[in-house]
Amino acid sequence: MPALGDKLSLHIDWEHRYRLMRMHSCMHMLCAVVPAPVTGGSIRDGSGRLDFDLPDAPSRLELEEKLNEVIAGNHPMSYIWITDQEMQERPELVKTMSVRPPSGAGTVRLVRFGEADLQACGGTHVANSGEIGKVRVVSIKNKGRQNRRITVEFA
Ligand SMILES: [Zn+2]
Repeated sequence: MPALGDKLSLHIDWEHRYRLMRMHSCMHMLCAVVPAPVTGGSIRDGSGRLDFDLPDAPSRLELEEKLNEVIAGNHPMSYIWITDQEMQERPELVKTMSVRPPSGAGTVRLVRFGEADLQACGGTHVANSGEIGKVRVVSIKNKGRQNRRITVEFA
């Protein structure tokens, strides 16, 4: 382990990081087109999925079209900081039911993609939704009562 005060060099695998940023940002766009609470999710290199508490499954092709439309809308990303108190008063800003944003630091970061999406998030994002590029909705699977798993990958 380095000692306290040692100087270190950090290298980021930018191509890998950028693909993760694009797919993570794509999950925000998915939230924008599926108006239901998120019950889980994960991101891999090149694909991502979210589980929604959604009684009726949407059509795969219709969803893919909507998703690509909102991505191509070139929504600029920005951060907004609000207080823990404001966060408590606006529970709709937390889309993921199982993961609450950390509180106690005094402020919570919101991520906005133009008019498309606004939610509390600590992830890494592209500067504009258009950077995500074209995607495919690979599958919409039924994972138990009111739980639809939607998987997306880069086209
Ligand atoms: Zn995010």
